[in-house]
Amino acid sequence: MVKSKVILADPIGFCFGVERAVNLLEEALEAHGKVYCIGSPIHNPQETARLKAKGLIVVSSAESIPEGSVVFVRAHGLPERDKSFLLDRGHLLVDGTCPFVLNAQEKASFLSSEGYKVLILGDKKHPEVKAITQSVGKFSCVVSPGENIPDDVLGDKIGIISQTTQRLQDFITLVRLAVQKAGEVRVFNTICGATEARQRAVAELAGRTDGVVVIGGKNSANTRKLFEIAMERNSQAIWIEEASDLDWRWLEGKCLIGIAAGASTPDWLINDLLKLLGKAKGVVKEDGR
Ligand code: SF4
Repeated sequence: MVKSKVILADPIGFCFGVERAVNLLEEALEAHGKVYCIGSPIHNPQETARLKAKGLIVVSSAESIPEGSVVFVRAHGLPERDKSFLLDRGHLLVDGTCPFVLNAQEKASFLSSEGYKVLILGDKKHPEVKAITQSVGKFSCVVSPGENIPDDVLGDKIGIISQTTQRLQDFITLVRLAVQKAGEVRVFNTICGATEARQRAVAELAGRTDGVVVIGGKNSANTRKLFEIAMERNSQAIWIEEASDLDWRWLEGKCLIGIAAGASTPDWLINDLLKLLGKAKGVVKEDGR
């Protein structure tokens, strides 16, 4: 019987911003024992559980954190006014905001201060987008991919930025639309390079394998996008959170399997999957380059 082979996407897993944030959080946990975070520090349930076992406490609001505690700001960032609120309550902030997210916040504030209405390509409910819209307030408007620009925005000076994890093609489409309809348009491409690189890698992988396993949190926007791209290129794609989710029947008849992982998927989850594939199915890893 011919053994299946796996090829890993390159790059795969943790991006620069998430790795930096998790390292900062682990250092804080080691130093202080107990660290609070508003919302999950990372969109990966398994990694969040690992950090909770080390003393992380996830809360839903700043008000529920005891005064003077250590508070971790996740890579998605927080609006400036929320940071001020926490500092005023005597908290020690460990700021894990990704520098690319900070850049998007700064560009939005700059555009707003220059009199542009800020259009943000993104998901209205995503914490990164919420932090940006709360910083520029009523002078912003969030547009989802494929959505039209609302009429009340047209004709104004429009500044456009993107949630860092959006697809470049959707950003270009929005910019084209704005240029056709608005008087003045100023654009900052705030899509993060790590996201684009992972999207390119999964597209390439899907085109040359019999199927792609995308591993990552079901609550992770960037992992969802990897899965969508894999599906567009190769209908034989599946999305799992951890190795034990894999349905072995899916492997049947596949000689070459691609593995891709979201920017919030830790190495240990990818390694668990590789180990399980190797042990249970004799699948061997091939150098993808
Ligand atoms: S995906 Fe990009 S913006 Fe988001 S945390 Fe990673 S490096 Fe930062």
